[in-house]
Amino acid sequence: MHVEKVSHALCVSVTLDKFPEVLALAEQYDNFYASVGVHPDYEKIEEPTVEALVRLANHPKIVAIGETGLDYFRLTGDLEWQRERFRTHIRAAIATQKPLIIHTRNAPDDTLRIMAEEEAHKIGGVMHCFTENLEMALAAIDMGFYISFSGIVTFKNAQQVKEVARSIPLDRILIETDSPYLAPVPFRGKTNQPGYVKHVAEEVAKLRGITFEAVAKATTHNFFELFKHAKATPAACN
Ligand SMILES: [Zn+2]
Repeated sequence: MHVEKVSHALCVSVTLDKFPEVLALAEQYDNFYASVGVHPDYEKIEEPTVEALVRLANHPKIVAIGETGLDYFRLTGDLEWQRERFRTHIRAAIATQKPLIIHTRNAPDDTLRIMAEEEAHKIGGVMHCFTENLEMALAAIDMGFYISFSGIVTFKNAQQVKEVARSIPLDRILIETDSPYLAPVPFRGKTNQPGYVKHVAEEVAKLRGITFEAVAKATTHNFFELFKHAKATPAACN
């Protein structure tokens, strides 16, 4: 039996430094997978090249490229390096045929522009911990992307995110923790953990007027549709 019905997990890399630890977790457990990438919030660290990402992604447990994207909320000033880093990840994703995990904050126009310029539709991916509006969600879906909701969707004041969760097609929805941050209600403010993702599924179900089981089934199915390199272990069918 799986605690809180979480059967699989994707551990997301944020720096090349930490990548070996993330990969080791994925290698240790059949139902864990990992990504490789450098998060847009990290300045003055080892900058990834397309070649380096492609090389590191060449491993059966690496199922995605990221976390990558743009963040004009945490960082300001000349962020050309952030946009360049984002382009590098999209190129690596297309080269490896492994989907993107995209972080976007306060940068909807540039995010969509760079996705279009780099032809991100050729590989697709997920807009993770989505907090933008419905228009942006639909533009990303048009490029073959999924929209992932974190604990934010359970927050009372997150009306924009709730509207997106209510409106987009169920076959484009994923759920996540963004652990250790953003624990859902009723654990808001506490350290997040994978088991809490159940509360994100419950909120999405409530917003759409469907059952928890329907959301659980759809999001598990969507996960394996998107992350094609992730082999479903028997646990996924329980
Ligand atoms: Zn993020």
